[in-house]
Amino acid sequence: MNKRNLDAKRIVIKIGTSSLLYQDTSKLNLRSIERLAFVLSDLKNQGKEVVLVSSGAIGVGMGRLGLSKRPDTIPAQQAVASVGQGELLGIYEREFQHYGKSVAQMLLTRDVLVYPQSKKNVFNAFQELLKMNVIPIVNENDTVSVDELDHKTKFGDNDQLSAIVANLIDADLLIMLSDIDGFYSGNPLSNPSAELYHTITNIDGSIIQAAGGVGTKFGTGGMVTKLKAAKRILKNHQKMILANGKNPRIIYNILAGDPVGTLFEPFLNQKKLSRKKD
Ligand code: ADP
Repeated sequence: MNKRNLDAKRIVIKIGTSSLLYQDTSKLNLRSIERLAFVLSDLKNQGKEVVLVSSGAIGVGMGRLGLSKRPDTIPAQQAVASVGQGELLGIYEREFQHYGKSVAQMLLTRDVLVYPQSKKNVFNAFQELLKMNVIPIVNENDTVSVDELDHKTKFGDNDQLSAIVANLIDADLLIMLSDIDGFYSGNPLSNPSAELYHTITNIDGSIIQAAGGVGTKFGTGGMVTKLKAAKRILKNHQKMILANGKNPRIIYNILAGDPVGTLFEPFLNQKKLSRKKD
């Protein structure tokens, strides 16, 4: 399989809850977080610009408060998220500091899409942080976001948030790390013969159909929200790679152009979807 040509300097990395927590115990996967901090710090040393979009606030909050079940009410979810967000940022701060890197917390609401002034402010804040060599760590502002009809400030999920951030800062690449090797022709959990797509250039009906329901206990979106994110990326003529975040060192393979994960890129010369041949 040919190498991909990905010349990416400004990179957004989204990590899902399923890569941050152990499924069985719901506790933090410290090894994964430590490796992520190492790889992203190393990329900074190579001169790349890196933005991390991290899920996990509710899952981490549940672990900290000893809850085995996600709370049902929105106020309780928001309270748990605020506990988890603090702890999560504290862990990132410690891990990145180990490699001499500074991080910044960016908690966003949908206002960045609705109000041009908010969008401009957030864009300027990103620019300044990147200029200062800081790694922005982005999440939805779960504690205050609401989903009311007349006042919708929620993005809904971090997959789409990561695509919005990639659009906003004009990133060269969005790397979406999940608990699966890429996008398959069906949910591999229920369909063992599903095949991994190497490249997708257009999100058509058959692709949407291949995205089954939600995946894991903590993950909220499954593939549906990842496809929505990919759609946004393709529309903006950008690129996204969906890959397995089990070992964040996969980011090195991705940037080296190795054929790992599924690449979503705008239609260029390819006539049709190419499937990975093993
Ligand atoms: P994350 O927490 O990383 O955002 P999710 O658990 O929300 O991840 O979504 C990933 C899950 O989506 C996979 O583990 C898989 O079970 C499920 N899934 C459904 N359809 C597909 C598909 N076509 N290809 C790959 N994974 C799929």
